[in-house]
This record gives sequence, structure tokens and C-alpha cells, in this order.
Amino acid sequence: MADRYPDTRLFIDGTWREAAAGRWIEVINPATEEPIGRVAHAGAEDLDLALAAAGRGFAAWRKVSAYDRARVMRKAANLLRERAEEIARLMVLEQGKPLSEARVETNAAADIIDWFAGEAQRIYGRVVPARAEGVVQMVVKEPVGPVAAFTPWNFPINQVVRKLAAGLAAGCSVLVKAPEETPASPAELIRAFHDAGVPAGAIGLVFGVPSEISSYLIPHPVIRKISFTGSTPVGKQLAALAGAHMKRATMELGGHAPAIVFDDADLDAAVKVLAANKLRNAGQVCVSPTRFLVQEGVYPAFVEKFTAAMQRAKVGNGLEEGVTMGPLAHERRLPAVEGFVQDALAKGARLRTGGHRIGNKGYFYAPTVLTEVPLSARAMNEEPFGPVALINPFRREEEAIDEANRLDYGLAAYGWTRSTRRAQMLAQGIEAGMLSMNHHGLALPELHFGGIKDSGQGSEGGADAIEAYLNLKLVTAAML
Ligand code: NAD
Repeated sequence: MADRYPDTRLFIDGTWREAAAGRWIEVINPATEEPIGRVAHAGAEDLDLALAAAGRGFAAWRKVSAYDRARVMRKAANLLRERAEEIARLMVLEQGKPLSEARVETNAAADIIDWFAGEAQRIYGRVVPARAEGVVQMVVKEPVGPVAAFTPWNFPINQVVRKLAAGLAAGCSVLVKAPEETPASPAELIRAFHDAGVPAGAIGLVFGVPSEISSYLIPHPVIRKISFTGSTPVGKQLAALAGAHMKRATMELGGHAPAIVFDDADLDAAVKVLAANKLRNAGQVCVSPTRFLVQEGVYPAFVEKFTAAMQRAKVGNGLEEGVTMGPLAHERRLPAVEGFVQDALAKGARLRTGGHRIGNKGYFYAPTVLTEVPLSARAMNEEPFGPVALINPFRREEEAIDEANRLDYGLAAYGWTRSTRRAQMLAQGIEAGMLSMNHHGLALPELHFGGIKDSGQGSEGGADAIEAYLNLKLVTAAML
């Protein structure tokens, strides 16, 4: 069962089908570099069918009461839980992460669905007191319409479910363009919704050439909203296209999270939590701690303990017992991460551990710690998106905040201090969409999840997320 990996078809109008032109894309296991299956490659003909179905699906789904939408969604969540073990294995085969992480992702997706199911029943409008007697003024919320959702390969299910669950809860239909590198596990998510009773067309799934699909779907009149998770450069292109066609857009883009460790921090806890989050998904996480800013007094101790924690990682095939970090997810990531590290070393950074590929089969890269990294290094400015920690010392509190805010990114930030004054200073001074102090508290279904500045706009979590899928309508009437 561990090695069973199905071909993934398109899901259009309630049926699984091959692409009209019969084209396929190969799927590679990043731990072995071997082809394990195929995913159907949609062309314009397939997209036209999917768009027409999304239009019909929206007309049907928006009429389903919030109570019934929630009921269907909860059923999908339970199906996902029942199937989690098999789905998690598919995810490891196509994405590489350790099985334990894939299980957590799949079960967390079920929790996200449950949470948005609850929100479906709390889509309230507002009655506004009128100026004149006999006038009733209401602001009501309506689903925005068919949504096109574009998601990346680092969290094959989680990135889809945040968009899909919020959109379906609001009464939208959602056409997903999921990642070609990791297609089978998101297809199982779609299957769970279909099996739970979401009507044909209210959900769709396509794969192909990302730029071809986005440039076809975003301007199309059926699509009323887009949501994208991925890199900042691509996000800017898609946001511009959405703007040109007046489509609402949610953008969850790259990050370059600062982790500020003050000299009064609980150092052992900081090392444990930050190292675990650096290694998670081999560092391919938009909120991964990246720039470690450590106050002088504890800098040597932090570097030593953190390096030791990174060296304890067991790197290997995610299906093997005890493995704590898998390979990078696809072949483009290996030269990308190698390039960042070589550039930093050439510019004078000090290598404490790692800095090399592991073996010559599979996209494995050693957990890497670089210290005294010059600000001119590319890794200090662009998202390394790999298991690379960049650690630099600071003396004054203001220096740490200035460095944390130096980049155009503004997604996650972390702080470690026992001082409430310093915690308050970070809370007020850090330019980021999310700040987590003295623990890792991000990404729960009920919490806002999103960035500012070049890291995007909008929210993918919490009560705010569903608003992105709703239009406001004023209805005012004078009673005759
Ligand atoms: P990439 O920039 O080519 O692709 C990133 C994602 O966007 C992929 O899922 C891809 O399919 C999609 N994409 C690319 N061009 C697109 C287009 N024109 N229309 C629609 N979708 C498009 O790079 P990559 O090598 O796959 O990933 C590397 C970089 O992407 C990372 O360095 C990181 O910055 C970013 N990334 C971010 C996240 C995130 O969670 N925010 C996830 C994955 C990748």
C-alpha cells in the first residue's frame, strides 16, 4: 500500500476525467527522483468545461442553506479523517515530508473544514438604524461567485483547504488549480467533498501549465474572485491581472520571518521551538523562521545549541520510521538552496553546519546554519525556502526591530523574551501580519493567517477569511 500511487485526473462537473487532448504530466518522488505516476494536463477545452460547470455549480450551491452547507462540509471533514492514513502516504510519496507531518496536515485540514462549516452559519448582515420613520436599511452578505484558487506544493492539502473551505462556506463555487508536483493528495481532498455531497460544479480541480491556466481563468467572466498562494513575484503578476479585470483577490505570498531572541529569553525553549519550525517541511514554509536575530549576551550559547539541534535532525525518506526531515520537494529547489548558501559563503558568512546536498539520489539538503551573514547576501533578502538558518547578533533592541522590518516582506515574525515591555515593543513595532512570542502559535483554523507589504493581502484563517468570499449589498426600503 505504501507504494500505491494513482494517476490523478481532472475533476470537472462532478466527474473525474482525463484531459481532452489526452496529455499528462509526470509526477516524481522527491526522495527517489523516480516517476511514480501522472497528472492530467488541462487545455483550454477542459478549462471551458470547468468554467461552465463552476457557473452552474455556483447557482446550485448558493441556494443550499447555510445549515446544509455546514452539514455537508462536516461530512467531508469526517471522510478526510477516516482516510487520513492513506492520504498522508500519498502526500509523502509526492511531496517528501515525513509521514507524521503529512498526517498532521491531513487531520488539520479536517479541523479547518469543521471550523469554516461553523462560520457558514454565522454569516450575519447588519440592520442600520434609519433616519426616517418607516425606512428599513439592511446590509446583507452574499457569496461573491465562482472562485479560482491557485495553490503550491509545500502543503498540498492545507493550501487548498483554506481556500476551498472558506469559499464553500460562503456559498461560492471553487475551481482549484492545484500543484502539478503534488496532485494526488489534494485530489483526495476534493474527493472527500464530492463524496460528502457537494453538488457537481461547486468544486472543480485542474492541473496544467500554471501561467497558462491563471491567464485563462482570471480574466474569464465566470470567475469573480481569485486566491493565490505562492511566491511574491508571481503573486504580483496575478494581482495585477486580477486588478485589470476587477476581480477580488486574496494573496498569500512569500515571507522572510525574523526570529528575535533577547538575552532574557528561555533559551532552551527558544532553540527547541525555532529549530523544529526551521526543519518542518525542510524549511519550505512561508512562515519558517529565517533571519535569527540574537542578542549579544546569549549569541554564542544560542548558536551552539541551535546548531546542535539542527545536527540532530534525521534526514531521509519521509516514509521511514524516525525521519524528521525529508527531501526538498522538487528538482528546482536543490540548485536554488545551494545557490543561496554558496552566495552567502562567498560574501563572508560562516558555516556552522550543513551547506551541502546529502547523497546523489533524492533532493536531500543538509540542515544548514550560517552565522555572521552579511546583509548583502541574497539569502538575507530573498526567501531561501529551505532548511537554512541565518543567525546574526544584535546589541540594542532597536537594531533588532530595524533589521526585522528592513525587508519588503511582512508575513510572520517571532519573539523570545521574558520581559512584557519588550514583548509590547515587538507587538507595536514589528511590521508583519503575524507575531508569535515565546511559542509557535500560528495557523490554527480560528486565527487570522496572512501577510502585509510584499507578503500579500487578505486573510486565510479565522473569521476574517470568509469575508473575502462575500459581497456586501445594501437593501433599503421605505414601508408603504
Ligand atoms: P514558482 O514561483 O515558479 O512557483 C510558486 C508557485 O506558484 C507554484 O505552486 C507554481 O505552480 C505557482 N505559479 C507559478 N507561476 C504561476 C502563474 N503564472 N500562475 C499561477 N500559478 C503560478 O517557484 P517554485 O520553484 O515552485 O517555488 C519557489 C518559490 O515559491 C519559493 O522560493 C517561495 O518563495 C514560493 N512559494 C511560496 C509558498 C507559500 O506558501 N507562500 C509555497 C510554495 C512556494
